[in-house]
Amino acid sequence: MNFDITILGSNSASFAYGRHHTSQLVNHNQCLYLIDCGEGTQNQLIRYKVKIQRIGHIFISHLHGDHYLGLVGLISTMHLQGRTDELHIFAPAGLDEVITLQLRLSDTRLNYPVTFHEVNTEVAATIYENEVLTVSTIPLNHRVKCAGFLFKEKPKKRRIVMESLHRGYTNFHLNLLKKGEDIKDENGEIVYKNADVTLPPKHSRSYAYCSDTRYDERIIPLVQHADLLYHESTFMTDMEQRAYETFHSTAAQAAQVAKTAQVGKLMLGHYSSRYKELEPLLAEAQEVFSNTILSVEGETLSIACE
Ligand SMILES: [Zn+2]
Ligand SMILES: [Zn+2]
Repeated sequence: MNFDITILGSNSASFAYGRHHTSQLVNHNQCLYLIDCGEGTQNQLIRYKVKIQRIGHIFISHLHGDHYLGLVGLISTMHLQGRTDELHIFAPAGLDEVITLQLRLSDTRLNYPVTFHEVNTEVAATIYENEVLTVSTIPLNHRVKCAGFLFKEKPKKRRIVMESLHRGYTNFHLNLLKKGEDIKDENGEIVYKNADVTLPPKHSRSYAYCSDTRYDERIIPLVQHADLLYHESTFMTDMEQRAYETFHSTAAQAAQVAKTAQVGKLMLGHYSSRYKELEPLLAEAQEVFSNTILSVEGETLSIACE
């Protein structure tokens, strides 16, 4: 089962040095999820050869333009290219109104259904799930209502060691073993003790996306032990006061969250356009949490299966 994150945009408020507004594509088990959709996202999806009609769910963190101004264009292109599948959009209150108004004034009647799901940015809650994955909100501390998103795999089944099964069994028996139960015969005698013939389930992987936010320790328990944490890092430490005033974080603060939450890896992003070179941000973060990387547009990170 794949779990990949592709960076489509990595900058904050303005385009700079070839860097675009925030957007990321999550590909989990061949299902595509878009997180944020700043201006230019559609071009980035084309550039990196993403099949846009395969995107079924879009998660918008907040209604600052650098996180959603590309949305109406993407919705329109999906329409023009003959989409019929439903599209689900998760966002704080108000996005429904904005998009519906734009479509109404251009007399666009979409030939596919769009369903808006209003996200409560005050509480951590599961807002989407399928058989293998859940998406939950991470309340963030920003100038407008804002939520991050935690993509987490559901607990997996135990793994059967097939070579250890010597007597007859059916699919029914295999399913019991995967659930952690023993196999008994008609007299109630144990034929296979679960622990003898199965291995523990594989690790359930998770990806936490946090943009935009002030440094806020309330985030830490919500992203605890995530395999990969994306945390905005708009500024360097000498701009910490500016970060506070504008409800953003520094790279070192992002690293402090990663360190305290004991995540596997930290990815920085949402860079201020004052920085042409990003290595100094990376260096400041790595002083606090060494396993830190920069988000780089066009790159795909895979969260490995153990
Ligand atoms: Zn932003
Ligand atoms: Zn913002």
